[in-house]
Amino acid sequence: MSEKELTTRQSLRFDELWSYDPAPESPDYVKIKEQYQLFIDGKFQEPESGNYFDSVNPSNEEVLALFAEAGKKDVDKAVAAARKAHNGVWSKMPAKERGKYIYRIARLLQERAREFAIIESMDSGKPIRESRDIDIPQVIAHFFYHAGWADKLKYAFPGVDPKPLGVAGQIIPWNFPLLMAAWKIAPALATGNTVVIKPAETTPLSALKLAELIQDADLPPGVVNIVTGAGETGMEIVRHPDIDKIAFTGSTEVGKIIQKAMAGTDRKYTLELGGKAANIIFDDAPVNQAVEGIVNGIFFNQGHVCCAGSRLLVQEGIADELVQKLKMRMETLIVGDPLDKNTDIGAINSKVQLDRILGFLSESVESDQRIYQTKCDLPEKGYWCRPTLVENVSQSHRIVQEEVFGPVLTIQTFRTPAEAVSLTNNTPYGLSGGVWTDKGSKIFKVGKSIRAGVIWANTFNKFDPTSPFGGYKESGIGREGGIHGLSPYLELS
Ligand code: NAD
Ligand code: MN
Repeated sequence: MSEKELTTRQSLRFDELWSYDPAPESPDYVKIKEQYQLFIDGKFQEPESGNYFDSVNPSNEEVLALFAEAGKKDVDKAVAAARKAHNGVWSKMPAKERGKYIYRIARLLQERAREFAIIESMDSGKPIRESRDIDIPQVIAHFFYHAGWADKLKYAFPGVDPKPLGVAGQIIPWNFPLLMAAWKIAPALATGNTVVIKPAETTPLSALKLAELIQDADLPPGVVNIVTGAGETGMEIVRHPDIDKIAFTGSTEVGKIIQKAMAGTDRKYTLELGGKAANIIFDDAPVNQAVEGIVNGIFFNQGHVCCAGSRLLVQEGIADELVQKLKMRMETLIVGDPLDKNTDIGAINSKVQLDRILGFLSESVESDQRIYQTKCDLPEKGYWCRPTLVENVSQSHRIVQEEVFGPVLTIQTFRTPAEAVSLTNNTPYGLSGGVWTDKGSKIFKVGKSIRAGVIWANTFNKFDPTSPFGGYKESGIGREGGIHGLSPYLELS
């Protein structure tokens, strides 16, 4: 098909067939307070410092609410509450009863799913279709799954008597705010630990809404404590001597700082860090499905996904056809209002993140890479980035080696499976990867040679609470999800 034919077909699709009327979800459905306090010992408490920071809606730059900034004294208070709850109540309670509380949290989340989806999209910028269909259902699934484990830990680890570690300190990022909270809180509670958790400073709202729900669930005070703030607050948690385990998800840079702080102590830690996943498309792959998988793998959630398929590796013979089809599909992606149900790509989470992405792209221009961006309209206010394909790159370019964390896909071609594997493994990361081929044996051979924690075959970005998730190399240490995700919260000797 010639370029010209493609263009004609595209404009036909857009102008006559593919225009949608706005279908926004109503923000009036949710109640957002002007100011949120720290959730410590089952109560909302003002910060000792009296300081507050704001979180904006990145799609219109409006302030959503103010959040308390927790300092050392507040973190001390939260850890003391968690310790008391652990020793006095949570570790003594029959496991079956603990499970009932976790089931109750899951059921209440189910009842309020719509409310949580809306506030998640308002605070983070992600499209409502994603928060409604992926984030919140996965959050609920995580609580249900782990509730089931609470009284069955002896079966998960036969021959040992699993015991909780005590107090877990947990620090999470802004890309899946409530889902990351669920990945952290659910296994900790199921294994009998209590929690001090800090959401990211640009997306604290859903965690504070979860605090309200936890109150409604009558969870004993101090079992879950939620403190807000930025890196300094996170560091107070990391340094706290009475925390038994740190669970962190975020950048490799901060992961390294945490690892240094933990060195020489007997405290446990798990780190879920960045990624630079390759999506490998062999010439016998179903091309149309692969295009959908590629789009889902990198443009989904504005590329704010640690396991995003940010590097496309295509076997030479199908490269031209695939790139043409991919560009055509990219042109149909709708960028805009996160609350509109038609939106495919929402707002970039913050100005800082947008500048980081644009920094990578201007470096690409300087290095003679070719940038293809779609032609869609963008809203005037807010932080936006069109879906972007970067061609003419080589393995040593920064955009191929480092995490962009935006809707930016690089493309490289390869000839043999061995070359594909070598390109795939040639970054400091190893979180995930994708293989597309019609041949089962190739999936196993190539899949086994990729040094990454998760490999998808003929699909991408699929999650399930029963499946362990985590990285090789600079992508992290430890696993979350499944039985593997329970053990880092347990004493197993
Ligand atoms: P970050 O690592 O700075 O922040 C993640 C969390 O750690 C936040 O809650 C933050 O407040 C906290 N934090 C920051 N500094 C800390 C410190 N010194 N001690 C303890 N806690 C600290 O990530 P970011 O600035 O939000 O994003 C930077 C880059 O991280 C992104 O461009 C992306 O590459 C990567 N990232 C990865 C993930 C992931 O899921 N793996 C998620 C978000 C961001
Ligand atoms: Mn925000």
